[in-house]
Amino acid sequence: MKERVGKEAKFLITALITVLVAGLVLVTILFCTKKLEKEMRSQLEQNLMDVANQNVIALQNHIHSNELLLEGLTSELMEDEDQTQSVMQYQNFVEKYGLKRLGYCRPDGMTVSTDGAEADLSQREFFKRGMEGKYTISGVLQDKMSEEHGNVTVMSMPMKDDSGDVQGVVCMTYDSDDFNEALQMQSFEGQGYSFAVNEDGEIMVSMGNEELELAQNFSEILEKRPENRDILQTLQEKIKNEENISGTMFLAKEECFYATPVPLMDGEVTWYMFTVVPKDYFNQRFATIRKELYRMDSLVILFIMVGVLFVVRIFGKQHKETMRLAYTDPLTGGANYAQFCLVVDGMRNRQGYLISMDVQNFSNINIAAGRAAGDSMIMSIWEVLKDAIGTNEMAARVREDQFALFMVESDEQKLLERTEAISDKIHALAKQIQVPGVYLHYGIYALRENESVEDGYVKAKTACDFVNGDRAKHYVFFREINHDELLEEQKLEEGFDEALAEREFEVWYQPKYSANGEQIVGSEALVRWRDKDGNLISPGRFIPLFEKNGMIARLDEYMFRSVCRQQVAWLRQGYQIMPVSVNLSRASLYYSDLVEKYENILKEYQLDARYIQIEVTESAMEGKADILKVLGRFREMGVHILMDDFGTGYSSLAILSMRCFDTLKLDKSLIDHIGEENGETLLYHVICMGQQLGLHITAEGVENTMQLKYLQKLNCDDIQGFLFARPMPASQFETLMST
Ligand code: C2E
Ligand code: MG
Ligand code: MG
Repeated sequence: MKERVGKEAKFLITALITVLVAGLVLVTILFCTKKLEKEMRSQLEQNLMDVANQNVIALQNHIHSNELLLEGLTSELMEDEDQTQSVMQYQNFVEKYGLKRLGYCRPDGMTVSTDGAEADLSQREFFKRGMEGKYTISGVLQDKMSEEHGNVTVMSMPMKDDSGDVQGVVCMTYDSDDFNEALQMQSFEGQGYSFAVNEDGEIMVSMGNEELELAQNFSEILEKRPENRDILQTLQEKIKNEENISGTMFLAKEECFYATPVPLMDGEVTWYMFTVVPKDYFNQRFATIRKELYRMDSLVILFIMVGVLFVVRIFGKQHKETMRLAYTDPLTGGANYAQFCLVVDGMRNRQGYLISMDVQNFSNINIAAGRAAGDSMIMSIWEVLKDAIGTNEMAARVREDQFALFMVESDEQKLLERTEAISDKIHALAKQIQVPGVYLHYGIYALRENESVEDGYVKAKTACDFVNGDRAKHYVFFREINHDELLEEQKLEEGFDEALAEREFEVWYQPKYSANGEQIVGSEALVRWRDKDGNLISPGRFIPLFEKNGMIARLDEYMFRSVCRQQVAWLRQGYQIMPVSVNLSRASLYYSDLVEKYENILKEYQLDARYIQIEVTESAMEGKADILKVLGRFREMGVHILMDDFGTGYSSLAILSMRCFDTLKLDKSLIDHIGEENGETLLYHVICMGQQLGLHITAEGVENTMQLKYLQKLNCDDIQGFLFARPMPASQFETLMST
């Protein structure tokens, strides 16, 4: 289980790390995407600015070169006598430089041009400015000098005499479209466009957008896209207030604007260049890389989802498995104690009886029929229990041979009938596999309203422990238990360790006499507990308890050691010591290192094995096949084995044939029947049989001469009983021994 928990923890950590790493990758990708987008945007802005600057330079260069041309021309014309005449001779010049015409405006505004047209241009702005001595380039004007009235752009320059007085204005007229044409440049792979506006907002040059018409006001362009209105307003205000708008970037909803002023003609004129790129352009450029990133994002998300699903599934399975293990008995596949408590606690109607059912001598099955038969017996018992319980009832296996039941019954009698039926079925099963001595103990407790099942079950189990060997009644109700006794038991249990350390346990000796009663042939060591107040507690009160909780093994060893020590001491003092028999309980016999331990004690005291004997009860033989081996090894060491309490068990006769002991100690219950015909007959046969098997016979609990006489008649070897002597302290026994 521990290993399992370790595995689960490892798995959880791995899963967590995976999810964490995946999450981190996702966050990194998202972060990179954002960063890249930002980077791309700033690249784009940079690009936009570069394109805008190129446009500005191109426009400036274009105008400047025309300006130079006009300057040269103006100086040339200045040389002529009559410019109104001489201007006509410049037709070649006009053609060479792609002009529409070249004109000379007299100071009164009358203008003659290379194409022979004459007109009064005194109202034209460029004329007025020229007369003020300023260079200028007009907006897109309607041609007044030809009948087509096309759009023209006019560059004008004052013609000054040597004293600096303005003698007229020289103007180069371009077809606006041609002028525009000369400036065409592609930007942003044909997706961007630019336009230059004069101070009035009229479009002077437009590049890359056919929708734009020259002389259209730029506000019209911006107004086409309502979302750009804010930009327009800001720009208009800025321009109106002659604020510096150099290098202003506007990010509109769909487009990105870059506005920059373009000073022309030595600063006489300012146009504004707008360079525009649709945001789409940026998105397209970014699309491929973004697609890749999104694909990665999706992959990572998918990975995380699959991971999480995987983890959830595995954990679901593991959880199920853990739950199964936690709540299932591995052998029967049915409920275990944990499930029992959970289910019964959760029941709506908890008014019922909690029963602890112990299978006594279950180990007999393992011994007699093998482990597999033992397991299959448990399964069969489980089937019996499953059949026995109804709805709203519950059964579970608590331990090896211990079961818990919750039964709802109207009265105790009916409940007992049901447990009786269960016992019958289980006895029948044991009979089928020919295993004797399997019977059942029930501890019963009526669960109270608000009591937890666990607390209730402890009471049922306690009651079960109070079922004694009396096989006529194999159940005890918790209410029947003498609670003072229970408390007393607890006190004894708690006092054990200290008592052992404080040597509160004393060895008393009960002499065994030869049948004629003339001499002591040995003794039995019997424990007495002298409590702190000096009172003696008899073994009947604590031995069964210590047998239940396993403490008896330590007590037996203590007694064995004490007897050895005493024997050696008496020997040294010159007493003629006799064998002392020490009781070994069934629980002590379970310890595998028992023989070695006792052998070492003997060696430690250097006591001859013949001075010590071991008494085992008949019931101790029931449980374990190994006990025969244990007894055999003691006998090899030279330690005699006495079969104690012979005649109280079921299998007395079977035990006789085992030939694993030297002395038969007839139980007091057999002796008590002396004087009754049946009792005497039984005793007679037992003694005969024992003698035939070559066993030494000791009669225990002999209290009167009538009994003694009968035993003498049957040639019983030794007598132990109150008739001759009661158990006594060592000091007293000492006086009985001869030196
Ligand atoms: P047991 O081994 O059968 O010991 C004989 C018991 O019968 C002793 O009781 C003894 O006092 C009693 N007895 C002997 N003769 C008579 C008699 O004529 N009349 C009556 N009424 N009783 C007689 P005790 O000392 O109370 O011991 C009771 C049981 O406790 C022992 O039965 C034995 O099974 C157990 N016991 C005593 N000391 C030890 C021990 O050191 N270890 C273990 N495992 N069990 C012990
Ligand atoms: Mg005994
Ligand atoms: Mg006895």
